Amino acid sequence: MNSVLDKGIQYLKGVGPAKAAMLSKLGLFSVRDLLEHFPKRYEDGSKWTSIAELQDGLLASFKCRVTGVQEQKPRRGLSILKVAVSDGTGQCFLVWFNQGYRKQAYKVGQTIVVAGKVKRQRFQPEITNPEVEDFEAAEWASVGKIMPVYGMTEPLNQRFFRTLIEQALELFAMLQMQEEALPLAIKEKYDLMDWHTALQQVHFPSSQTELAAARKRLIFEELYWMQCWVLAARTKCRSLPGIKHGPQGALERRVLEALPFALTQDQKQVWQEIRADMEELAAMQRLLQGDVGSGKTVLAALALAKTVENGYQGALMVPTEILAEQHYLTMQELLGRHGVKVALLTGRLKDKEKAALLTAIRQGDIQVTIGTHALIQDGVEFEKLGLAITDEQHRFGVFQRAKLQEKGRLPDMLVMTATPIPRTMALTVYGDLEVSAIRELPPGRKPVKTYVRNRQSREKVYLFIRDQVAKGRQAYVVCPLVEESDKIEAQAAVELHEELSGGYLQGIACGLVHGRLKSSERDVVMDAFYAGEIKVLVSTTVIEVGVNVPNAAVMVIECAERFGLAQLHQLRGRIGRGAHQSYCVLLSEKPSPEGRARLEIMASVADGFLLAEEDLKLRGPGQFFGARQHGLPDLKIADVFRDGEILLEARSAAKSSLEKKTSRERIERVLEARFAGVGDLIFNA
Ligand code: ADP
Ligand code: MG
Repeated sequence: MNSVLDKGIQYLKGVGPAKAAMLSKLGLFSVRDLLEHFPKRYEDGSKWTSIAELQDGLLASFKCRVTGVQEQKPRRGLSILKVAVSDGTGQCFLVWFNQGYRKQAYKVGQTIVVAGKVKRQRFQPEITNPEVEDFEAAEWASVGKIMPVYGMTEPLNQRFFRTLIEQALELFAMLQMQEEALPLAIKEKYDLMDWHTALQQVHFPSSQTELAAARKRLIFEELYWMQCWVLAARTKCRSLPGIKHGPQGALERRVLEALPFALTQDQKQVWQEIRADMEELAAMQRLLQGDVGSGKTVLAALALAKTVENGYQGALMVPTEILAEQHYLTMQELLGRHGVKVALLTGRLKDKEKAALLTAIRQGDIQVTIGTHALIQDGVEFEKLGLAITDEQHRFGVFQRAKLQEKGRLPDMLVMTATPIPRTMALTVYGDLEVSAIRELPPGRKPVKTYVRNRQSREKVYLFIRDQVAKGRQAYVVCPLVEESDKIEAQAAVELHEELSGGYLQGIACGLVHGRLKSSERDVVMDAFYAGEIKVLVSTTVIEVGVNVPNAAVMVIECAERFGLAQLHQLRGRIGRGAHQSYCVLLSEKPSPEGRARLEIMASVADGFLLAEEDLKLRGPGQFFGARQHGLPDLKIADVFRDGEILLEARSAAKSSLEKKTSRERIERVLEARFAGVGDLIFNA
C-alpha cells in the first residue's frame, strides 16, 4: 500500500533530522507508525482529584501549582530533588532521586498536571518519579477533555507528540475513500466502530464511551488478523497429506511393557490421543501440557518408537545441552535397549564427529536424534523424518518449532511444555495446535515442603543439608540470578562454591556447574552427580530444565527473591522426583513487598496452573513470559490476558471468515501484506 500514510515522518511539520532520529528510536518512521502509536494512558480532566484526597497507594492525577523546588545532597552520590506543589486543598511533594537536572524544569508559580502513585504515611503525601506535564489552559480548553498520554523518551514531550498525531490524523482524514480491511459482515455482526472514527477517537476521545468503542474496534481487529493467520496455518496443514502411521506394533508394545511403572490414567489418555493423530493422514499438530515431573518424556519415547517402527526417523529438540544429554540417556534406556539407533546432536560435537553424524542422519542410519538448536541448522537433513518433537516449547519461538517440522515432508509434530499458560494466551501462541494435558503426577510423590528463610538462618539451612547428605540424600544449591551478565553470574557461582566447600559444607563432595563451563567439564560434574559421587551440586539456572536425579531431595535457592515464579517453579521441579520427602528452602534478604508475596506463594502453592494465575495477578499480563520471546509479532493495542473475551470473539469471527471461499481469498491477501516479513507460521509445503 503506497499512500500518504507511508510517507516518512519528516514529512510532518516540526520534524527535522534530529527529531526524526529520536522518533526512530521509538520505532516510529512513517505517518502510519504514528497513527498506530496508541496512547499508553489518558489524562481525564474530569477525574482529577484534589491533594487533600490523596490516599496511600492511589494512582492519582491532579492539577496544581509549584510552590518550592529544593535539591538535597545528604551524602556523596545521592541527590534528592523535591518539588513542593499545592492546589489550595493541601501540599504534596514530588520526589526524584539522582535526577538533579530536572530542577531547571520547575519554577515557582508554574501550573502543572501530575500523575503517579501516592505514598502517604503520617505527613504530606509524596509521589516518586511522577509524570508531569505543563498545564496550558488552551490545550485543556474544556474541563473534562480526555488527553492522550504517549509512551516516549525525553527530551520529546507530550505536547510535541500530540501535535504530530494531530497532523497525522489530518492526513488520514483525507483518505476517506480508503477501504476498510475488516470484512463488512464482521464489522456489522460485532457492531464495531468504523476504522476512521476509531483511530480519531483512540487518540483524541470525545468521551469515555467513544474511547471504549474505539479501543474495542482496534483490539478486535488486531486479534482478528492474528487469529486468521494462526487458523489459516492450521487449515493449510490439515488439508495436506502427511504421514499415516500404522496401528500398534511390536516395538511400541515392547517399550510400553519394559517401563518400570504403569502409565497414569492421564498418560494413557494422552497416549491414545497422540496415537490417533499419528494414525491419521493429516499431520499431527499437538501440544502436550503437563506440569514439571508429570511424565511427558515417556510419551515422547512411545511416539518415537511408533514412528521408528513405521520406517521413519524421529527428532526431539530441547533448549539446553544438559537437557539434551539427559534425554539422550533416557532414550537410550527406553529405546536403545530395543535396538533403536539413538544419537545426540549438539553444538559441542567436533567437526569430524558432526560430519559423520549428519551423514548417518541423512542416510537414515540414525533413527532418533536428540538435539539442541543445532537440529534446525542448515546442513541437518533427514532421510525420512516422520515425527518432530519439541520439549520445553516455552523456551522456543513458534518459528523454531516450524523450522524443525520443515526438516521433513509434513512430519507429525508434538510440542511439549511444562509452563501452563491461560487459555486465551494459548489460543494465540499455540492457536494452531490441538491440546492434551497431564494433570496428575505419578503416584507416590510426596509434595515438596517449601520454606522461606532469611540470611540469619543460613547456617541452620546448610546444617540441614549436611544432615540430609548423612542420610544418603543429595542436594542442589542454586546461585543468585544475575540477569544482565552470565559472566558475573558464573563468577558468583564460583565464589559461592568456594565459600560452601570451605565452610558449611566442608568435607562433603560439592560440584559446580554454570553457563561458562566447557561442556566437557560440565559433563564430568553432572555424571558424578547422577552417579551419586557428588552430594551437593552448586549451580546457576542451567539446571532449570530437565535434570532428573530422584535421589536429590533438597534445594536451597540463594537470593530467591530475584527469580520469577515460573522460574522458581521449574527449579523446584528438580526435587520431589523420588520416594523421599523433599525440601525447598528459599533464602532471601529484605525482599520487596512483591518479592515477598512471590516467595509466600511458592511456599503455599505447588500446582503449576495455580502458580501461573498467581503470577499473572502479581506481575500483570505483559511480563508473564519475561524476556523470553514467544515468536509472534508484537501486539500494539490488544493484550491477550486483559482482552480475553474479545479474543474469543475475534477467533470465532476469523473462523467463520475463513470458512467462506470468497472471504478466505481476500483474507489471504491481507495476511500476506500484514505479516510480510514476519515469516510463515507453517512452511511452504
Ligand atoms: P516431565 O513431564 O517434567 O518431563 P519426566 O518425563 O521427566 O517429567 O518424568 C519425571 C519422572 O517421573 C521420571 O523419573 C519418570 O521416569 C517418572 N515417571 C513418569 N511417569 C511415571 C509413572 N506413570 N509412574 C511413576 N513414575 C513415572
Ligand atoms: Mg521434561
